[in-house]
Amino acid sequence: MSILRVDSLSKSFATQSGNFFALNNISLSFSSTGLVSIVGKSGSGKSTLLNILMGIEKPSSGKIFFNNKDISKMSDKEFSKYHLDDVSMVYQHYNLFLELSAKENIILPLLMRGENHKKADKEVDELLKKFSLDYLANQKCKLMSGGEKQRVAILRAIITSPKMLLCDEPTGALDRQNSQIIMQILKQLSKSMLVVMVSHNKEIVEEYSDRIITLKDGKIVDDKLINECFERNANKTKSSYSSKWSKLFTKLNLKLNKKKNIFSALACTVGFASIFLSFGFYEGSQTSQDNALNNNLAVLHASASEKTYFDIVNSPLSYEKSVRPSEESLRKNLREFSSLIYEPNLSYLFPSYPYGTYKNKNIDNFQMVPIYDISLESYGKSLLVSGYPPKEDICEVIVNEEFVKALNETNEEAIDDYFNINYFTSISYSTSDNETPFIKDEFSFDYELRISAVVKEFSFLNTPKVYYS
Ligand code: ADP
Ligand code: MG
Repeated sequence: MSILRVDSLSKSFATQSGNFFALNNISLSFSSTGLVSIVGKSGSGKSTLLNILMGIEKPSSGKIFFNNKDISKMSDKEFSKYHLDDVSMVYQHYNLFLELSAKENIILPLLMRGENHKKADKEVDELLKKFSLDYLANQKCKLMSGGEKQRVAILRAIITSPKMLLCDEPTGALDRQNSQIIMQILKQLSKSMLVVMVSHNKEIVEEYSDRIITLKDGKIVDDKLINECFERNANKTKSSYSSKWSKLFTKLNLKLNKKKNIFSALACTVGFASIFLSFGFYEGSQTSQDNALNNNLAVLHASASEKTYFDIVNSPLSYEKSVRPSEESLRKNLREFSSLIYEPNLSYLFPSYPYGTYKNKNIDNFQMVPIYDISLESYGKSLLVSGYPPKEDICEVIVNEEFVKALNETNEEAIDDYFNINYFTSISYSTSDNETPFIKDEFSFDYELRISAVVKEFSFLNTPKVYYS
C-alpha cells in the first residue's frame, strides 16, 4: 500500500497569454519509506509539487491521497493533524528563526501542537543528542554555519515524527562536505519514513536516491526505481494532537525583517525579537506554575511586522519602515506554520501605561496588557482569585492583585467595579501623495472598564496590570 498517491494533479497559473501549467496531469504513488529524488530544470514544477504535497498550495485539479484519504476532503482538524504530525518540510534556506537557539527552534512544532513543555524539552534534548548536535542546543541559529543550520532545520522537521519529509533543495546552499552530511542524515531517516527531495545536484541524487523522478515542463518524463523500499509497519506510535493549535497565543514576539536589495529567496528572514511570557498567572505551587506555563505555551501568539530598511546616503544610519505584512506575505514566510490564524493587532492603539481614575482618585503606573482570544477555561479557573472570565466585551478586563492593591480594595470588592482609563495617542503614516506626505491621526480615549476577574501572578512581576481582550 502506498502512503501517498497523487492522481491527475495539475496546477495552472493565469498569465496574459492564457493558462500556464506548472504541473500538468501528474500521477504518482510513493511507498512509506525510501528516498525519492525529484529532478528537472529550473521551472519544471518541482517546488510546486512539494508545496502541494505539503498542503501550502492547492492543486487546480487532481487529488492527493495520504494513507488513502483525500486531503482536500479532510476536516480542519484532520488537515491540521496532517500538517502538524504527518508531513514536514525542509528548505534550501533553512527557514529557521535566526534569533532563536537550536533548541527553541526545534521545540516549536511540539509546543504548537500543545505538548507539555517539560516533555517537549526532554524530547528535544534527546533528539539533539541522537544527532550529536547537543553542542548547538543553546546557540543562536544566526551564529551557525550553513551545515549546522540545515541539521537544526531537519531536526525541527522530524521532532514531530512525521511520516513524510519533503526537502526542497536541502543541500542547495551547502558545500560538498556539508551536503554529504545532510544526505547521510536524510538517507538514515528514509529507512523509517518517506523522504522526497528536490535537488539539482546530480552526483548526490545518483549516490543516495532509491528512486528518481524527472519533471519537464510540469510533466513526468522519467521515473526510475533504483532500490525497492520496504513498507513501514503502519502501527507506529500515534502522536498526540491538540486542537489548541487553532488558537495561537502570545508567547513569541515575532518579527519579519525585510531587507531590500537581496534576492528574493532571502528577502524575508524571520527572526524573533524576544520571547516573553504574556501571562504570569499562577496559583502558588510549583505544579500550578508549571500548568500555567504549559497552558500558556499550548497556544502561541506571535506578532509580526514587516520591516524595510532604507539606507541614508553617506551615513551609517538607515531609516526603518515597519508595516503590517499582508496575509500573503505572512503565509509565504511562515510556510511551516500554515495553520496560523492572522488577526490585525490593535494593541498600538493602547499605550502601555495610560492614566486611570477610580472613584475620582487617580491611579497610575499600571500597565495595559493585550490578551488574545481569551478563554480562561483553558487557563484553568483556579488561576482566578475571584470573579468570572470576561465576556467578549472590550470593556471587561482582568486585573492582577497588585492592581487591586493600587485601588485600595479587596479582591471581592473590586469585582464588577468600574474604573476609567484615559489617554491620548497619535499615529503617523506616510502617503503616496506628495502634497501631504504624512498624515497624523490623533486619538483620545476615555474608557470605562469593568473588572471581571482578579488573578494571581508570578511574584517578581508585581506591576499593577490590566489585561484587556
Ligand atoms: P522549480 O522548483 O522546478 O524550479 P517551480 O515549481 O517553482 O519550479 O515553478 C514551476 C513554474 O511555475 C515556473 O515556471 C514558475 O514560474 C511557475 N510558477 C510557480 N509559482 C507561480 C505563481 N504563484 N504564479 C505564477 N507562476 C508560478
Ligand atoms: Mg524550486
